[in-house]
Amino acid sequence: MMNTQLTLASMIEHTERYLPKKEVVSRTLAGTRTFTYQEIVRRTRALASALENLGVEKGDRIGTFAWNHHRHLEAYFAVPSMGAVLHTINIRLSEEHIAYIINHAEDKVLLIDEDLLPLIEKVKDQLKTVEAFVVMTDEDRLPESTLEPLYSYETLLEKADETYQFASDIDENDPAGICYTSGTTGKPKGVVYSHRGIYLHSMAMGLADAGGLSESDVVMSVVPMFHANAWGLPFAATWFGSTQVLPGPNMTPKILAEMIEEQKVTMTAGVPTIWLGLLKELEQGRYNTSSLRRVLCGGAAAPKGMIKTFETKYGIPFIHAYGMTETTPLVTLSRLKSYQSDLSEEDRLELRSKQGMVVPGLEVKVVNENGEAKADGDDMGELLIRGPWIADSYYNDDRSDEAFRDGWLHTGDVVTMDEEGTIKIVDRTKDLIKSGGEWISSVDLENALMAHESVFEAAVVAIPHPKWQERPIACIVRKEGEEHNVSKQDIMDFLTPQFAKWWLPDEVVFIAEIPKTSVGKFLKTALRDQVKSQVMQE
Ligand code: ADP
Repeated sequence: MMNTQLTLASMIEHTERYLPKKEVVSRTLAGTRTFTYQEIVRRTRALASALENLGVEKGDRIGTFAWNHHRHLEAYFAVPSMGAVLHTINIRLSEEHIAYIINHAEDKVLLIDEDLLPLIEKVKDQLKTVEAFVVMTDEDRLPESTLEPLYSYETLLEKADETYQFASDIDENDPAGICYTSGTTGKPKGVVYSHRGIYLHSMAMGLADAGGLSESDVVMSVVPMFHANAWGLPFAATWFGSTQVLPGPNMTPKILAEMIEEQKVTMTAGVPTIWLGLLKELEQGRYNTSSLRRVLCGGAAAPKGMIKTFETKYGIPFIHAYGMTETTPLVTLSRLKSYQSDLSEEDRLELRSKQGMVVPGLEVKVVNENGEAKADGDDMGELLIRGPWIADSYYNDDRSDEAFRDGWLHTGDVVTMDEEGTIKIVDRTKDLIKSGGEWISSVDLENALMAHESVFEAAVVAIPHPKWQERPIACIVRKEGEEHNVSKQDIMDFLTPQFAKWWLPDEVVFIAEIPKTSVGKFLKTALRDQVKSQVMQE
């Protein structure tokens, strides 16, 4: 067979030739605008030309500091297609981490949203390698800023060559992108994506039994483009010519609900906290969400109660998925096999609330102190993954050896696998509660708690215990208006029939909000500290 190179340039050139009339709807500070892919590709070529004019060369890292919109999409393709490396910077990291990752990746140019300029201004004196700042404004004007030299994106594009030819010497194994893990503990770790990895991952996104993305979809990436490449959706959707909806800055559940209705979104993806927020909005307003064919939910465990409400009350199919920054990120999806449709509704829901089966192209195994764990749905072990879109190291980081050894990525996620190959994430190693030599899954308890009708969000953390080593504490945010309708005792009565006695939380605390990470996951380290002092005082 021919050994043609699997590159991002070949993907966008396909879109340009065969799907130029399809559209991208982009919300920015100035409002919502629609572009054809023909316009997007023209602007992508101009961006590559503009970056070349700024002195960008093959292998240089270009940082983006931006929301989900058309300019960010243009950078997604322009930077790798000229041979440079796209570094999507998480705008919600701490100042210290932002400066750290820009220096660590040695970014040469930063593309920044106008409203996010102040965040970069704060760290500018710490940046060692940045030679130019480009502001992605809606006008071709320059806002006031202490950053220099500062250029306007639109002015640069105007002066650039929109017929720019993408680099022809790109090897499919060359780096296309770099993204840092959100670093809930320690410094963020860099993951480099190759052209080949992104290309193959995009194909998996399009497989009917995986992402199932196709030309006829209207895809809204709610996952930020600065987090694991918005799960690779912008790459795949552009390649396939799906209509894309990019919801822009500071999106709220209301904006999401409106965009789903107005743009007739068929597929969207995000973390559970986003969908809990949307659910609240759907319960208050009247929205037509009937266009949705599926919602991809991952990044943290999707509570079973939430899946059920979306599906039964709103008829919105939910697909639970699992992945990591290190895995580009798609690894497993919870779809039923055809012969599993005979199961009872409850069993089907139970199965679908697990993280599912590995997608074609990747291999997984579960390992514990006895070797490979039994595939019986019970035996727990760490999930190991390998395949063509799995990283093989962290970028210039001595923490690589521990995570990547013996040819496998060691995920740090504790899972079970059943005989069908369905994976269930029991916990992250560091969040498991070790009580009296046994493990308690915080995720299982949270799932059960979130099925309570008065509970909005719930997180379970461990606190130290003199006899049992650790014990679970349930932290609960009640739904609005339910503050007086549910007591600690009600919660315990609700859990008691569902779990072994030693699994039940020692304490239930009601809190106003669960602290979240930069990507909207429960920040258990902070919650643990908060709860520890609260419980100790009582
Ligand atoms: P971070 O490690 O900073 O949270 P990632 O977004 O890469 O950044 O997170 C990957 C982790 O998120 C996984 O290792 C796993 O613990 C968790 N995760 C991802 N998807 C799911 C899911 N569907 N259910 C439970 N946990 C998940």
